[in-house]
Amino acid sequence: MFIQDKVPLQAYSTMKLGGQAAYLSEVNDRQEIPELVAWASERQLPIIMIGGGSNIVWRDEGFNGLILVNKLTGVESYELDDQTTFVTASGGENWDKLVAQTVSMGLSGLELLSLIPGTAGGAPVQNIGAYGCQLSDILATIEAYDLSVRQFVTLRASECEFGYRTSRFKTSDRNRFLISKITLQLGKKPANNDTYHSLDTYLQANNITERTPGNIREAVMTIRSQKLPDPAYVANCGSFFANPIIDKDYSVQLLEAYPRLASWPSKFMWDLDDGRVKIAAGALLEHEGFKGFHDPETGMATWDNQALVLVNEHAKSTADLLKFKQKITDAIAAKFNIVLEQEPELLP
Ligand SMILES: Cc1cc2nc3c(=O)[nH]c(=O)nc-3n(C[C@H](O)[C@H](O)[C@H](O)COP(=O)(O)OP(=O)(O)OC[C@H]3O[C@@H](n4cnc5c(N)ncnc54)[C@H](O)[C@@H]3O)c2cc1C
Repeated sequence: MFIQDKVPLQAYSTMKLGGQAAYLSEVNDRQEIPELVAWASERQLPIIMIGGGSNIVWRDEGFNGLILVNKLTGVESYELDDQTTFVTASGGENWDKLVAQTVSMGLSGLELLSLIPGTAGGAPVQNIGAYGCQLSDILATIEAYDLSVRQFVTLRASECEFGYRTSRFKTSDRNRFLISKITLQLGKKPANNDTYHSLDTYLQANNITERTPGNIREAVMTIRSQKLPDPAYVANCGSFFANPIIDKDYSVQLLEAYPRLASWPSKFMWDLDDGRVKIAAGALLEHEGFKGFHDPETGMATWDNQALVLVNEHAKSTADLLKFKQKITDAIAAKFNIVLEQEPELLP
C-alpha cells in the first residue's frame, strides 16, 4: 500500500485540468481496497475510485480525501454453452483492450463499444454506449466493495439502475461502490444488430457484407478515429453533452422552426416509444456555429469534426472550461429552449 500526498489531478483527467488531491493511491491488488478504506476511515477522509480519468473534470479546489486509481488487471472466461460465454474483467483493465480480446476470441457483444477510452470498472458508471449499444445490454454482474457495509458484494445488472448514460453509481449511490470486477455475457454468433446510420454507410461504401464482430470493430474504429480526438494527444473527455430527450410534439415544432436540423448529415432523432425522442445535441451545437469554435477568452474549443467534444487547447483552470460550457448551454437554451446536460462528471 503506497499513498502519495498533494497530488496534482491534471494527470488523472484526460481534460488535464483541476486542483490537487490530498492523497492518492494506485490499487494493484483487490485486497488493498479494504486496507485503504480503513486507512481513510481512521482519518475521516472521503474516497473516490477512478479508472482512466476519461469522464472526469476535477474542480480547481481539488479533493480533500483519498483517490483510489483502479489498476486491477486480469480477464477470465467461462463457456456456458455453445451460445454463451461469460467474460470477467478486473476493474482496471483497459476497456478497448478488453473489447479487442473478446473480438479475437470470436465473441460478439462488445464490438460496437470499440475504442471507448477508460477502464472496465469505469464503464458501468455511465453505462457506456455507442452506435445503439450500451453496456447494460451485455453486462451480467458487477463485483464491488460496498463502503456502506465494508465488504465485497455482487450486483446483478438489474440492480444497477441503468439508464441512458447513467446508473446508480452516478446517482443515488455515487461513490458508495468501488467496482473491482465486471462480468459480461457474450455471444458466440455475430449479433444481429440494427446499427447506426454512419456505420451502415461505412459498411456499404466498403462492400462489407459480413457483420462479424471483427468487421464491425474495424469499421467502428475507423469512423471514431476520423471523428474523435485521441485523448493521448488532445485534452478532452469525449462528448461533453448528452443527447437531450424531449417530447415528440416539441421535436416537431423544433423541426418546423429550424428545418436545417433535419438535414444534419448524421441521424437527428431517435424514437423512444414512450412519446419522447432523443435528439442529437451535436446538431444543435453545429446549428449555432459551435463546430470547430475556438474561444480565445477561455482557451477552450469545440472539435473540428464533432462539435460535442470540448477540447482544452490552453485553458488555465476548470473555471475556464465551465465558463466556456456556459456560453454554449446559454446559447442553446436561448435558441431552442433545451437545457443541455453535462456528460463527464465534475468531481468532487
Ligand atoms: C475521446 C473520448 C471518447 C469517448 N467516447 C465515449 C462513448 O462513445 N460512449 C461513452 O459512453 N463514453 C465515452 N467516453 C467517456 C468515457 O470514456 C467513458 O465514460 C469511460 O467509461 C470512463 O472510464 P474511466 O475508467 O476513464 O472512468 P473515469 O473517468 O476514471 O471515472 C468516471 C466516473 O466513474 C467512477 N469510476 C471509475 N472507475 C470506477 C470503479 N472501478 N469503481 C467505482 N467508480 C469508478 C469515477 O469515480 C467517476 O465518477 C469518451 C471519452 C473520450 C475521452
